[in-house]
Amino acid sequence: MRILVISDIHANLVALETVLADVGGAWDQIWCLGDLIGYGPRPNECVALLRTHNHISLSGNHDWAALGKLDVSEFNPEAQRAVAWTRSALSAETHAYLDALPAARVEKSFTLAHASPRYPVWEYILDLATAVANFDHFDTLRCLVGHSHVPLLFAMYANGSVDAFHPTYRETIYLEETRVIINPGSVGQPRDGDPRAAYALLDLAEMTWEFHRVAYPVQETQAQMRAADLPAPLIERLAYGW
Ligand code: ZN
Repeated sequence: MRILVISDIHANLVALETVLADVGGAWDQIWCLGDLIGYGPRPNECVALLRTHNHISLSGNHDWAALGKLDVSEFNPEAQRAVAWTRSALSAETHAYLDALPAARVEKSFTLAHASPRYPVWEYILDLATAVANFDHFDTLRCLVGHSHVPLLFAMYANGSVDAFHPTYRETIYLEETRVIINPGSVGQPRDGDPRAAYALLDLAEMTWEFHRVAYPVQETQAQMRAADLPAPLIERLAYGW
């Protein structure tokens, strides 16, 4: 069974469509790690498109914010404006679908958590110390996370030491019996200085993982955001992958 692993779509329909076209039909199920909406201009359409496919999904902090399940007073002013716009744009159907999603779940030998297994909607796993701490917070061999919008793989060796690996794209990684925490990166708002949409392919039979990147027409999403009067910094950042 081949899994298309995606995260942090952030209502960027052009990016999501480009990812689905790039990967073609070479997968059986989508695992989406949350933040389907927030920031971007097409929340209902992204959720509807995901729902046309065989998939499972988590909810993230931006989904919670749009649903009113999260206090957004700590968000910066642009993010608060984007939350207000998303709330006003959300259909009752999208609202009900997102409201029913968990922030974490176990699937086969994987724990899936939007942010981290320790704090499923809050924590960014970007450094070794945070990764080391989180290996104590899941019982499965492997864990997949999103939230940071940065593709990364942390591996724990038999002696307990942990290493971080930045992706080499389209290279097959054999997960074997190694304990790992992996982030596929973000479809709709990458933050690693590379504006291309990120996704990954997981083969459960071979237990292999491949990081992928694909360029999408960023200016189309930016035009949709301008038309929706979303904040300029959120529009500009897409071009820089930040
Ligand atoms: Zn996100």
